[in-house]
Parts: sequence; structure tokens; C-alpha cells
Amino acid sequence: MPFSLVPHRVFGCYADITPDYLTEQGITLLLSDLDFTLAAKKTPRPDQPLRDWIADLAAHGIGFMIVSNNRSGRRVTEFCADLGVPYQGHARKPSPRGLYAAMERAGVDAAHTAMLGDKLLTDMLAANRAGVLALMVEPVGGPVTAWQKVLHALQAPFKAASRRHAEKIG
Ligand SMILES: [Mg+2]
Repeated sequence: MPFSLVPHRVFGCYADITPDYLTEQGITLLLSDLDFTLAAKKTPRPDQPLRDWIADLAAHGIGFMIVSNNRSGRRVTEFCADLGVPYQGHARKPSPRGLYAAMERAGVDAAHTAMLGDKLLTDMLAANRAGVLALMVEPVGGPVTAWQKVLHALQAPFKAASRRHAEKIG
């Protein structure tokens, strides 16, 4: 579905996505957004649960790369360096180009790649346009500003559509 906003599946939190689930889907490369997906915005350093989750993915042979639209490079660069994962910046999601660049760097094709994020109009649209598995999470820390609350409400019907689809296919 190249122009679909509907995620393949919605999770409560990144930690709910297990290596077994990804392996069942044939995924060997997980691309991920950073802000509100892996950490609250402006969080300077990755916490231990996030480090443990990434280590568990690696132990199961699943590569990981952060693909972010963030242009204030320093925090993201330091966050990723601290986490020990590569970073594809200036991704310009919903363009799929940042995802293509990340897949090329990792040497993995779209059929074996998933994109994880908290936003439909950037992360999920980019994932569907790139032809990778679109996995969505509820925003870390919940929506905070008025705009985030509006965006969160607008996303709800698409997440509900994804849940209904998941129930149908079991
Ligand atoms: Mg985000």
C-alpha cells in the first residue's frame, strides 16, 4: 500500500516488539524514529531498558538503525553514539529516501525491513511508501503539547483500522 497511512500493527511501547515477532515477519533490519518512539523528546541519553532491548535484537541477528528527521544533529548523534547504533539523519520522512539510504547502508531489502515510529504522516507514510513493514507505537510520555494532543486524536481512526485489520487476520 504505497500511499497508505494505516500501520501494519500498533504496539503500546517499543519494548512490546520482540525479536520473535520480528523474526516471524521475516525482518532482519529494524529502522526506528527516535523522539516519542524510543524516548521522550529532549531526553539526552538512552536509558537501560532501551539499551537492553537493542542488545536483545542484536543477539537475535536483527540490525537496528535510527532514521530521524531531526535537524539539530548533536543530541541525536550523541544519543545514537551512546546507544551504539547507526543513524540516518535528515530523512525528510514522509519521503522514503532516508529509509532507502538506511537499507542500502545495511545491505537489507524492503521485504526484510520494518520501520517503527509514532507518527502516521511521517513514519508510517514513509514506511508504506518504501514498502517496508510499518510498525507504530503510542508516543512515549503521551502527547504533551496542544498540537501533539490534536495530532494524537487525528491518528486514532487509523490506529483503530490497523487493530481491526489485525483482529481479522488473527
Ligand atoms: Mg517521533
